[in-house]
Amino acid sequence: TSSKHAAIQEQRLNLPITKGKDALIREFRENDVTVLLGETGSGKTTQVPQYLLESNLAGNDTIAVTQPRKVAATSLAARVAAEQGVKIGTLVGYSVRFDERCGSDTRIKYMTDGMIVRELMSDPLLSKYSVVIVDEAHERSLRTDLLISNLKVIQRQRNGNGTGENNYSKAKGKEKEKATNPLKIIIMSATLDAEKFAKFFSGAKVIYVQGRQHPVTIYHSLQSQTDYVDSAMRTFFQIHTDQPPGDVLIFLPGQEDIEGLEKSVELFAKQLPQACMEVLICTMYASQAPGQNAKVFNATPPNTRKCILATNIAETSITIPGVKYVIDTGKCKEKRYLARNTGGGFDTLMTRDITKSSAMQRAGRAGREGAGFCFRLYTEDAFKAMKPSAEPEILRCGLASSLLQLKCIDQDLESLDLMDEPDRDSLISALKTLFLLGAINQKKELTPLGREMAAFPLEPVYSRAVVASKELGCTSEVLIIVSVLSASSKLFTDSSEHRDAISESRRKFRHSSGDHLTILNVYKAYQDITKSESKSGRKAWCKKHFLNERALLEAGEIREQLVGTCQRAGIDPKAEGGEGKEEEVIKSLAHGLVANTAFLQPDGSYKQVMGQSVVKIHPSSTLSERKTPTIMYDELVYTNQIYARGVTSINKGFLAGLGALSQRQA
Ligand code: ADP
Ligand code: MG
Repeated sequence: TSSKHAAIQEQRLNLPITKGKDALIREFRENDVTVLLGETGSGKTTQVPQYLLESNLAGNDTIAVTQPRKVAATSLAARVAAEQGVKIGTLVGYSVRFDERCGSDTRIKYMTDGMIVRELMSDPLLSKYSVVIVDEAHERSLRTDLLISNLKVIQRQRNGNGTGENNYSKAKGKEKEKATNPLKIIIMSATLDAEKFAKFFSGAKVIYVQGRQHPVTIYHSLQSQTDYVDSAMRTFFQIHTDQPPGDVLIFLPGQEDIEGLEKSVELFAKQLPQACMEVLICTMYASQAPGQNAKVFNATPPNTRKCILATNIAETSITIPGVKYVIDTGKCKEKRYLARNTGGGFDTLMTRDITKSSAMQRAGRAGREGAGFCFRLYTEDAFKAMKPSAEPEILRCGLASSLLQLKCIDQDLESLDLMDEPDRDSLISALKTLFLLGAINQKKELTPLGREMAAFPLEPVYSRAVVASKELGCTSEVLIIVSVLSASSKLFTDSSEHRDAISESRRKFRHSSGDHLTILNVYKAYQDITKSESKSGRKAWCKKHFLNERALLEAGEIREQLVGTCQRAGIDPKAEGGEGKEEEVIKSLAHGLVANTAFLQPDGSYKQVMGQSVVKIHPSSTLSERKTPTIMYDELVYTNQIYARGVTSINKGFLAGLGALSQRQA
C-alpha cells in the first residue's frame, strides 16, 4: 500500500490547484472571508482543507467542509483520509444525517449543510470550528443559505469587532488579536457567481483558481427526443462501437432512470460482437450503498470502456476520472414546493429541464483530461431556451422543518439577513404546518412540544409522531415505520413485468389498515429472517418479495440513531404496543400526518381536509382498490394528477378528536 500511497501523492501534486498553494494559504491567512472559484476537478474540495491543516491555519480546532449532498460528503472524506494515509473517522471524518464517522481527533470534517445547521442548536457560535468552508455554494441549497446567513453574524461575534460595518478588515492588527476564538469563512463554488457572495460579506476577497479545461466538442440532437433513456442507450452504443477508447458519463435525472438504463445497457452489451471492448457499468446517485461508489474511481481495466450513469451529483461535486464522452439527457430532479391556493402545499421531486449553467458544467466533464465530446440529447433551440441558472432552494421549497430549527435558536426566517428572502406564501404555509403540529403557538412562539420535536433529525410530521408515541406507548413500532419512511431508498421495488407476482407476495405482509402497518410487517418479517438466514439468504428473500434490501438496512441504521435520540429525550424507545395496539400506532402517526388527511368523495376521489386539492390513492398502495372513508398519507406525488402515497385508513371520529383540527382549522 505504500506504492498506492505514493500514487495518490503524485495525483495530488498534479492537481491544478497545487501551483497556487502558497498564494492561497497567504490569502486565507489575511482574509476573514474568502470566496474561492475554480473549475470542477481543480482540487478545491479535497486540497483546501489539507492546506489549512498543514499550514496550521486552523489552530487546534476543526475545519468544517459543508456539502449539500450526503454522498459527496462521505465520498470526499474517504478520499482525503486516503490522501492523509489515515482511517476515516480519525483525523479526517464525516457527519451526515443518520451517519457519523468522527472522533475527538478529527480535524477535517466533511458534513452536510443540514448537519451543521442542526449543530447551531447546541452550539450557536459553532465554537468548535475555526474554519468553515461552505462548498458548492453556487447550488444555493436552503441549508447552505441559512448557514451563510448565520456565519456572517457568528463571525462578527467571534472575531470581536461587532460594532462597525467594516468587520472583514484585512488588517492583522491588534483588533483581531483580541478575538480568542476567531472564525474564518471560505466560500467555494464552481461557477462564476462570486459577486453575490462577496457582496453579502461586505466585499470579501475573491480568488480564482485556474482549471485545466480541454476543448469539448458539443453535438445537439437535430430533433427533440421523447424517450431520453432510450436515446441515451442508443447514443452510448454508437460511441462504444465507433469511437476511440475513453469512458462515457451519462447524466440522468434520478435513480429509477439509472436503474432502468443499467439493465438495458447490460442486456445490449451481451449481444455485442466479440471484437468490441467490454462495457463496465458504474452508477453514482444519492441513495446508493456507500461502498458501491468506490468502483467508479478505480482505473478502467484494459480493453474496457466504463459507462458511468450518474445524477447531477457528478456535475460539480464529484469528479470522476477518465471521462472523454458525456451524454446529457438535459434532465434533472428538482425539489419544488407546490403551494395550493388554500394552504397545505407540499414538496415534491419533479423531473425538469436543466439550466444553461448545468448544461455547461455537464459538457465540461468531458474535457478534464484531454479533448472531449458532449452529446446533448436535446436540440440547440432547447438549449437556448433554458434558464440561465437554478433558482435558490429557499424560493422553491417547503420551509417548515428549517423554521422549526431556527425557532429553537431564537431565530426567524423573517428577521434573518438572507441572500434571498423566501416569499410570503411559503412562510405562511410553514407557520401553518408548525401550528397544526402544535410546535408553535398562536403568537408564533416555539412550544415545549416543538422543542421536543426539533431534537429529532426528522421531518416535523414524523418527529411529531414519535413524540406522540410516547404517551400512546408504541414508540418501538413508530420508530420502525418512521425509519423506513426516512430512508433514501424505496422499500418496495416496482416493475411492470412482475405486477401480478408483486401483488401476490405483498399480500403476505398486507395489513388491512393500509401501508404504514404493512411496512411494519415487512420490517418485522425481515428481522425474523435475519435471525436464521445468511447474508445471501436474506438477499434472496428480499428479491423473492420484491423488496429493496438496501432500504431495510438503511432503515435499521436510522432506527439505531433515533433510539439514541429518544434516550436523550427521555422517551423509552423500546416501549412496544404489541398485538392489539395497532390503533395506537396509527394514532401516533396521525398526530404527525394531521394535515395530510382526506375524505372520500362520492366519485371515489378524496378531498383534502386542510386544503382544496382532490387526490387519488396511488396505485402502489395496499388501499388503492378499497374505498375507505378517511385516509392519511405520507406524501402527494404529482404526475398527470395528484396521488396520495403511503396511505392508511383512519377513524373519522378520531381525526375530529385530534384537537388540533377542531380548534386550529380556523
Ligand atoms: P474540485 O472541488 O475543485 O471540484 P476535487 O477536490 O473534488 O476538485 O477533486 C480533485 C481530484 O480528486 C479529482 O481528480 C477527483 O477525481 C479526485 N477524487 C475525488 N474523490 C475521489 C475518490 N473518492 N477517489 C478517487 N479520487 C477522487
Ligand atoms: Mg468540489
